[in-house]
Amino acid sequence: MPSALETLVKILKLEQNTGYNNTAVIGGLESFGEKWQIDAHQQARRPEHHQLVDELVGCLMKYGREEEAEARHEAVKYMLGRIMGRIPAPPDLPPSSYVDDETEDPASDTPVPQTAYRETHDDDSGADLGDDDARDDAGDGESFSEDETFDDDADEEEFFSSAPEPERAAPAPRGPSKARRSPRPVRSPEEALASFEALAAPITDLARVGDKMAEKLQRLDIATVRDLLFSFPRRYDDYTQMRTINRLRPGETVTVVGSVRSVTKRQGRRGNPYLLALVDDGTATLQVAFFGQPWLERQFKRDRQIVLSGDVDMFRGQLMMTNPEWELLERDNLHTGRIVPVYPLTKGITARTMRRISRTALDQWADRIPDPLPTSVLDRTQLADLSWALEQVHFPESQENLRYARTRLMFDDLFIFQTAMLRNRHTWQAVPGQPIHVPDEWVQTMLDTLPYQLTSAQERALGNIRDDLARDVPMNRLIQGDVGSGKTVVAAVAMAMTVEAGMQAALMAPTSILAEQHARSISALLHNSPLGEATQVRLLMGNTGEAERQEIYAGLADGSIQVVIGTHALIQAGVTFARLGLAIIDEQHRFGVEQRGTLRGKGYNPHVLVMTATPIPRTLALTLYADLDLTIIDEMPPGRTPVATRVIEPVERERAYAFIRTQLDQGRQAFVVYPLVEASESLDEVGSAVEAYEHLQAEEFGHYRVGLLHGRMPPAEKDTTMQAFAAGEIDVLVSTSVVEVGIDVPNASVILIENADRFGLAQLHQFRGRVGRGEHPSYCLLVSSSATKETNERLKAMEETSDGFRLAEIDWRLRGPGDLLGVRQSGAGHFRLTEMMDPQLVELAQREARTIYAEDPGLSLPDHVLLARRVQAFLDERADIS
Ligand code: ADP
Ligand code: MG
Repeated sequence: MPSALETLVKILKLEQNTGYNNTAVIGGLESFGEKWQIDAHQQARRPEHHQLVDELVGCLMKYGREEEAEARHEAVKYMLGRIMGRIPAPPDLPPSSYVDDETEDPASDTPVPQTAYRETHDDDSGADLGDDDARDDAGDGESFSEDETFDDDADEEEFFSSAPEPERAAPAPRGPSKARRSPRPVRSPEEALASFEALAAPITDLARVGDKMAEKLQRLDIATVRDLLFSFPRRYDDYTQMRTINRLRPGETVTVVGSVRSVTKRQGRRGNPYLLALVDDGTATLQVAFFGQPWLERQFKRDRQIVLSGDVDMFRGQLMMTNPEWELLERDNLHTGRIVPVYPLTKGITARTMRRISRTALDQWADRIPDPLPTSVLDRTQLADLSWALEQVHFPESQENLRYARTRLMFDDLFIFQTAMLRNRHTWQAVPGQPIHVPDEWVQTMLDTLPYQLTSAQERALGNIRDDLARDVPMNRLIQGDVGSGKTVVAAVAMAMTVEAGMQAALMAPTSILAEQHARSISALLHNSPLGEATQVRLLMGNTGEAERQEIYAGLADGSIQVVIGTHALIQAGVTFARLGLAIIDEQHRFGVEQRGTLRGKGYNPHVLVMTATPIPRTLALTLYADLDLTIIDEMPPGRTPVATRVIEPVERERAYAFIRTQLDQGRQAFVVYPLVEASESLDEVGSAVEAYEHLQAEEFGHYRVGLLHGRMPPAEKDTTMQAFAAGEIDVLVSTSVVEVGIDVPNASVILIENADRFGLAQLHQFRGRVGRGEHPSYCLLVSSSATKETNERLKAMEETSDGFRLAEIDWRLRGPGDLLGVRQSGAGHFRLTEMMDPQLVELAQREARTIYAEDPGLSLPDHVLLARRVQAFLDERADIS
């Protein structure tokens, strides 16, 4: 049982919240006072406690007779003030106080004295505060399980009662909301490290979590205490709105306190049994239905006071709550009357169980968690303490506290990420690279051999690259440029400069079609350049024949092959270079950090250039690629007209085909895309493309030449088809998403994309980039079979803009960055990146990471010991992913 004073505090707060109607308890405060004083006197240990109880009972007795709300307000305030020790005892009484935890008036800066009553309270605090369902159940002599859907009695019992009651410490003085930071205990680095390691304790170290529960938690990726503390709620239910039953309105989310009048078993219309409880708070009676929780019948004894939180509905003209959260009034509330955390769940772990486990973990650990953020960072940023933030993110006292807490925790993720990136960069930049110098005149001659003038954005990119190459620190640059912005030629010039300087260059592309296309266009550019026809440019792919492969391996190893272009085949073990000077990765988002690393490892610290057509909002790019320098090509080669885009419904397909035919009749070509929904090209998907191909060939485009392209075709056949399309020998190319990247067919003027509603805008934009690459006006038709307004509005953005960055941002906002990046979002306790990418927070994290890095790049100062550990753990975890 909570102490009598605690119960009274709750009642008084309720009375405040319900507007001083003397309705916080049935029968009013007066009759409550009568029953209350018995318990209170029993618990009192000293004369002054008895005096306080008497005084309070006196106030309670008078309360109902105060007519004015103002007077009642004062009376409640006085009682609370006396209990908290804020108001001194009347002259005839000795001073006395009871210290609530920080919930009471956090803004108050009057130090609360630890006085007599508190000590008493502490004496039996184990019994008082540690009380919960387990104890209560035992007392009732009932074994019950209150949990809802995935219930499994045995396990509930394990959690509730298998171990002894936890030693629950007296409520710790957590930082009040206005000063969310408290001076940290002085810890030696060793001590801090030890507490940090201790967090890796298995979850079974927690009181009342046994092996069975641990097994279930494992399914949520929770194995250690740290995992649990960092498994944040998915969302929260705000039940802080208290209402009396007579003031309830349907549709509101509220908390109600009342007494159980009756509980009866009922049968729903479809035969579902449920319990119907009538709950009365003195103002009115409320019907409460509980489906699927028959054991509650034993919990809801007549006259028991319960707290209900949930949504109010109308049912047959009556107010009703269905399956609300509930708790007994005397409990320390976890599930009702507050901002309640809602965790991701798994079979066998209910929402209530999860809350209790979290509560237990916080009680046992929160104050012992060492903060990895250096004191200097905390001082500069004024972010909240880690312990405080963890407490508040799980059990927020207010929306404001929740915001502060989340900010602090999101900052951590961003900051650790940034620091890790800088750390990586530090590691490989510590080894000098090989400068590549090429005279200006040579570059000018090279540029003169190009069939066109570079755009100024391309020139700028090339300028950045030349500067980087000339340094003895290896380049690590990302070029972002929309589809068709002309990244290939920039890469080709960089490769030419590398060859001119006597070194080798490699380019890795994600697909063989793309690798082949690059090989064609780049060898043409190089052979046409001052390097001349003799330049050895080779293509290496998974399907390259054995003899040729060996020949390429040998040529790369002895340096006779200067340029190699290929797929993943380039990072196979057999590939070694004599003097790899520049490694380029196209469509970088298709490769992991690790693959980038492997290619880099093929040379002696070569310069690295990565290119992507996936436009990523700048803040996101700066965060995710913090180890890269960023160049954006934000200009299209001249003569491009935006691709006219329309979202159409499936019923409009016929008209779309007719439109395509008019284009074909003008000599143009068309793509019809059946993009993949799964990451890998499933047979189904291929099947639908094949089927569509047959249909289109037979029916819609009978008079035209129709080709088929999908990822499961033999490479040679794919190549033939692509070549045929590029050469204009095929009019309509039906394909899966293999056309996503890079294919360049200037005569293609229309693309029809099926299933458009299932894709991100950035990806659709990539598909769209297949057309509009020549001088012809071009069109994109997006077939959406979705009826939802949001989806179609999202697709409308495609009609309105051809700015890839803009689309990426919309995607980012609406669907999260996953689409843009293929970022892994799992793992216990991480926020979704979208939430974190508040530009201000990203910037703050960047600034702090750089400051720390400038000060202590190796993170070896004592104040950085924990940070170094966290960063290492982060890097290890990432390495595991690959
Ligand atoms: P992406 O950036 O998508 O890789 P590409 O490098 O494939 O784009 O270039 C798209 C097309 O634009 C190619 O046909 C290329 O020859 C052409 N191109 C590139 N730069 C220019 C330019 N400065 N002027 C005219 N055409 C250009
Ligand atoms: Mg490209």
